[in-house]
Amino acid sequence: MQRITILGATGSIGVSTLDVLARHPDKYQVYALSAHSRVEQLAAQCAQFQPQRAVVGTADAAARLAALLRERGLRTEVEYGEAALCAIASSEQTDTVMAAIVGAAGLAPALAAARAGKKILLANKEALVMSGQLFMDAVHEHGATLLPIDSEHNAIFQSLPQSYARSPAAAGVAKIVLTASGGPFLKRAVETLEAVTPDEACKHPNWEMGRKISVDSATMMNKGLEVIEAHWLFGAPAALIEVVIHPQSVIHSMVSYVDGSVIAELGNPDMRTPIANALAFPERIASGVAQLDLTAVGTLQFEKPDFARFPCLALAFEALEAGGTAPALLNAANEVAVQAFLEQRIGFRDIDRVIARVMHENEHGAASSIEAVMAQDARARVAAQAIVAGLAR
Ligand code: NAD
Ligand code: MG
Repeated sequence: MQRITILGATGSIGVSTLDVLARHPDKYQVYALSAHSRVEQLAAQCAQFQPQRAVVGTADAAARLAALLRERGLRTEVEYGEAALCAIASSEQTDTVMAAIVGAAGLAPALAAARAGKKILLANKEALVMSGQLFMDAVHEHGATLLPIDSEHNAIFQSLPQSYARSPAAAGVAKIVLTASGGPFLKRAVETLEAVTPDEACKHPNWEMGRKISVDSATMMNKGLEVIEAHWLFGAPAALIEVVIHPQSVIHSMVSYVDGSVIAELGNPDMRTPIANALAFPERIASGVAQLDLTAVGTLQFEKPDFARFPCLALAFEALEAGGTAPALLNAANEVAVQAFLEQRIGFRDIDRVIARVMHENEHGAASSIEAVMAQDARARVAAQAIVAGLAR
């Protein structure tokens, strides 16, 4: 029996994870669940999965959750705050941690799981973007197992040999090809992008996701963050990572080898596939996802990304090349800008303007410690908020 902690249980990935777990009660047991503020949803999940512990964001949310659980006669222990998240991620009573909190808030608990040598199913790409070297070092030092949940990285993981040890040259890898849908604005006239609304930006053509990553997909910052994520997961320099637009999202990514072979993973766009793959690895379990019918799909298309349409993608490559805390700067500026856009304080195209200014007007240094990374994150947020305030409409 695998005992599982889900960080971010009420989000899109968290709900998909619970959906897969519910299909295999003989194999998996939920140890702990976390949510930030959606206590009713978390209470319902506690009723269904009976975890020992549940963690929320604030004392107030904890009091509300405790009351709901009492009403239902549940004995789940309720805690709140970052230390509690780290505790459920590193407890001796859990084997596997699904890291599915969105944004920088997920870094500390994911790192706690790494330091405790857990099997980590990593959806929270921002953690790797911010502190890739430190995170990978912690995984290796403490004998943790890191399995990618991001569909592209899970596809690459499945397309590499099982013995792959973060050396593309040793495995004969010529290129890692990340596919991207291009999001909702792939074909929309660039001049009209200034005026798009949060709801339009969140209407992804193929995937159902949280609002932050949906906006990231519309700007293609999501792909930029994934390039940095791939760099750390697979030990590949930026020059070996290529982005290809593939609007159908059927090929989830591929690996090109020196002999001309290309190995890809295909499937219907549903996150339960990578989640089930990582949960059961190296075995396979049913996920609830329908089998892919290529004859129904009919056509698969590919094109090169347009960096002028998607400046965020170029900014991410720039941050990866710059190294050190530059990706942390990029990530923090993006989180602030996306939040401001979702709250309709700035326009869609202001997102890339805020990030570019934060990156170009602030120093970055060595990512020598988590404290250095978090300090950079904090400085970048202050700088980004000031720029947002100047732009606010
Ligand atoms: P979501 O917004 O649907 O859910 C986020 C979860 O994090 C919620 O449970 C929320 O309660 C929790 N949370 C939010 N802020 C928090 C905070 N400050 N402290 C603690 N918990 C907090 O997001 P999502 O779409 O499920 O994405 C989660 C992560 O997975 C992101 O890093 C995203 O990039 C990544 N990811 C998602 C998908 C997808 O299909 N949704 C695909 C690939 C990667
Ligand atoms: Mg992805």
